[in-house]
Amino acid sequence: MVLPIIAYGDPILRKMSEEIDESYPDLKEFINDMYETMYDSSGVGLAAPQVGRSIRLFIIDGEKYGEEDESLLNFKEVFINPIIIEETGQEWDFNEGCLSIPGIREDVRRKPQITLEYYDENFVLKEEIFDGVAARIIQHEYDHIEGVLFTDRINPLRRRLLKGKLHNIAKGNIEVDYKMKFPLLK
Ligand code: ZN
Repeated sequence: MVLPIIAYGDPILRKMSEEIDESYPDLKEFINDMYETMYDSSGVGLAAPQVGRSIRLFIIDGEKYGEEDESLLNFKEVFINPIIIEETGQEWDFNEGCLSIPGIREDVRRKPQITLEYYDENFVLKEEIFDGVAARIIQHEYDHIEGVLFTDRINPLRRRLLKGKLHNIAKGNIEVDYKMKFPLLK
């Protein structure tokens, strides 16, 4: 089932999400719905708060970037209760976008390599090192479960210039070709 994606301005995107355990109801079904929703909107990552659940879970499928970076072809994974243990390297700019903030893309600076501990969809604990675009997608999705958006990470002047656009997104005053829920839609 394709779920509506929560647009910028909704307080759920600002909440710190809660950890879950294996007893979380209908988890498999929810993960399937998240994949369906992400593919429907042509995204490469989707975090649970973006579909209205304040839990520490996100999914990624990097295949879309596979032409630019082969390592992303098989990068498809569910991340539950992740913890970024370490971020290393020289910060680099990457142009980020977000399904909750359609029509806006901005360069964001982050470190290139992360060590991540997380549970997969079968609740097997993993620790892995990711770098480049894979790390970048994880960092972006990880921010979502912490209540942070990529527009928080751009310089204050750029952010001020985007204020009107962001307000229009919250009001649903935008063109978008996937199902969304707008907090200020009258
Ligand atoms: Zn996002």
